[in-house]
Amino acid sequence: MRLIFLGPPGAGKGTQAKRLTDKFGIPQLSTGDMLRAAVSAGTEIGKRAKAVMDAGGLVSDDIVNQIVSERIASADCSKGFILDGYPRTVPQAKALAENMAAMNLRLDAVIELKVDEEALIRRIESRVAETLAAGGTVRSDDNPESFRKRLAEYREKTAPLSAYYSEQGELVVLDGMADVDAVTRSIETALEKASA
Ligand code: AMP
Repeated sequence: MRLIFLGPPGAGKGTQAKRLTDKFGIPQLSTGDMLRAAVSAGTEIGKRAKAVMDAGGLVSDDIVNQIVSERIASADCSKGFILDGYPRTVPQAKALAENMAAMNLRLDAVIELKVDEEALIRRIESRVAETLAAGGTVRSDDNPESFRKRLAEYREKTAPLSAYYSEQGELVVLDGMADVDAVTRSIETALEKASA
């Protein structure tokens, strides 16, 4: 099973992707997590990405394409993977298609979680409050200013992917505003249809 989750920041892609990894035994590939790990480890990529990420901008296509192409060739991706936060631009989607074609792989579905922006801002505020209440540290880009920038980047650069995947007949659009379990159920139903 090879899936892409599309949707703005805070739409629940990560939460839903995690649930599917348990069900299908395939890894969740979050480019955000991979980039944050590179920043923490102080690698060359991390150093180049940090300022852009903190400001809520997008890291260059070359960097993320490289990271993902290496990652999907790993042994633990042999049964499939769930991409969460990638692709985020049409050139990234094209690079992914080329990489997958070269590896003789095909996508099973692209799932877009639709949400409204006001609700997203409330979600991000409660995510920050819950993390702080649990004694955790919040992401350096989880502040209102960076979050608005991330939403603007989504609208401008990532939203066009809906049309791109819809033209290829791969897009499934689901209501991401429903409660978490209901969203999981609708994803499972959509995947059953996609594989039927
Ligand atoms: P996320 O955890 O998916 O919200 O990603 C956090 C940040 O990492 C984003 O705001 C971007 O700065 C960067 N990032 C993650 N994935 C990508 C991607 N596919 N292309 C460009 N930048 C990305």
